[in-house]
Amino acid sequence: MEKGLIITIDGPSGVGKSTVAKSVAKHLGLTYLDTGAMYRAIALQVKRYPLNIDNDDELSSLLLNTNIEFINNKENNLILTLNNEDITDKIRSPEISRLSSDIATKRIVRKKLVEIQRKIGLNGNIVVEGRDMGTYVFPGADFKFYLDATLAERAKRRRTQLIETGHNIGADNMIKEIELRDKQDKERLESPLHPAPNAVIIDTTNLIADEVINRIITEVKGE
Ligand code: C5P
Repeated sequence: MEKGLIITIDGPSGVGKSTVAKSVAKHLGLTYLDTGAMYRAIALQVKRYPLNIDNDDELSSLLLNTNIEFINNKENNLILTLNNEDITDKIRSPEISRLSSDIATKRIVRKKLVEIQRKIGLNGNIVVEGRDMGTYVFPGADFKFYLDATLAERAKRRRTQLIETGHNIGADNMIKEIELRDKQDKERLESPLHPAPNAVIIDTTNLIADEVINRIITEVKGE
């Protein structure tokens, strides 16, 4: 059987990857995988233990006791479970954002999550969203996109999203947060964030989500 399509969508925090990737997957009848949510799940587990993330032994025993799955609930929505608990709504806080970026620098965490991601992507027919999808996890993907936008625009988008879900954060603090995560994601040793050499780079600063979605769908359909 021929392997199905793999579309990767990478880019920095707050650029709108989730909205775009989810919609592209829906339009094309593909599965959607949010790999950032997996790093967030580990961050939640770390917060609950809690432990010293710089100690590889502690981190590795936590990972052994951590089971992450995406499952379809009764309403047919994809929910993320951590040891069988639905954590979909518990991983979007600013604190978990920060911690997920910290633990994403750790090699043993990335190794475990990349294994799961590649297993989910094995048969293709999937839109995968993250930081290293086109560069590292699926280097042979059929289509690679890298979304970008100015820091100010991304901070604005992320802040609106947080306020909608009940997390209030000042505009200046939001910019600082995103700036810090950019630095950490781009400068880490393990799979740093950068566009894959053959990725289509889309500057979304002055585009609405539908324009980005259409651009990607047009490219994939070869129209
Ligand atoms: O995309 P999201 O903001 O949910 O990701 C949370 C954090 O997980 C990011 O700041 C990044 O450090 C990390 N991440 C990663 N590789 C991915 C997806 C997310 O390092 N493929």
